[in-house]
Amino acid sequence: MRRDQLPSGFSGMPCVSCTTISAPLTDADFADYFRGGLWTPSACNHSVSLWRAVRAAVGSDHALMPGAVAISVAKLSFGELTLKRKETVNLDLHHIGVPEGARILGVFLTPHGGNEEDGWLAPAISAQSFTTAPIPHQFWLHGFAAQGGSDSTNVNVLCSWVDPVSDPELLPLWSAVEAYTAGSYQDVIVPASVAVESKLGSVLHAHFRQFAGREKVERFLQDAATFSYQLSPLLPAVMSGTGAPELPEEVAGMLSWLRNIRNKVAHSHAAVSREQAADAVCASLFGFRYLASYGPLVAPSQT
Ligand SMILES: [Zn+2]
Repeated sequence: MRRDQLPSGFSGMPCVSCTTISAPLTDADFADYFRGGLWTPSACNHSVSLWRAVRAAVGSDHALMPGAVAISVAKLSFGELTLKRKETVNLDLHHIGVPEGARILGVFLTPHGGNEEDGWLAPAISAQSFTTAPIPHQFWLHGFAAQGGSDSTNVNVLCSWVDPVSDPELLPLWSAVEAYTAGSYQDVIVPASVAVESKLGSVLHAHFRQFAGREKVERFLQDAATFSYQLSPLLPAVMSGTGAPELPEEVAGMLSWLRNIRNKVAHSHAAVSREQAADAVCASLFGFRYLASYGPLVAPSQT
């Protein structure tokens, strides 16, 4: 592998209109959205609702630019290798910036250079297996001579990968996004819902602990106030007076929908379409972001 000029990990948000990739989304981008503003990409001036932009990016989920990369759960690393006739080449993804322990979502090898009628070498993996086991970090490749072959052929390497998170609050959301990228749409729903349910639970728990003992608060949130009541009216009631904006209707509505489909999947193993899985990822991401931004206890505003 050539190690010069290799980015160590890239993510970014594509524009809905022109597809140019902007810098990764920040807390400020989400804060603007929750306060009713539009997202202006850093790379162009096609302002749009952040919800719409994220839903479009997650929904398009192109293999070379997965939605997971747009929302910065996954990253892309790029590299290049040279295949030589009768030589075996080791592709070690670590050398293009994929960290130890990362889960590989995809590896794409694209030979380039030469004219159409020229012969070339296609990357062939020495030992092949197709299983649901994790994709390895190292491959051994040799050049398969195409159209008579060539002495050497350059190959672009693109790898999408996910760095595992250690924050237990983020784990369900990450699992949902990985399942979505893997095409396991049914496996998206429960973790996507759990990500918001447990975050909402911990926000409300911290709030009500100011007024009652741990056991009483836990019983209240588990037995009395179900997720649907936690979402409304408890959450708006807790947030009012803190200066936090209201949870946008499109997010609140999608979270209620997520709760319903979660029950259908958990109780009757209902089938889930790619569109539904993309909706679930977006609802979970925005719900989690809202709770993470405004959920921590803040002093009531002095008005
Ligand atoms: Zn644009």
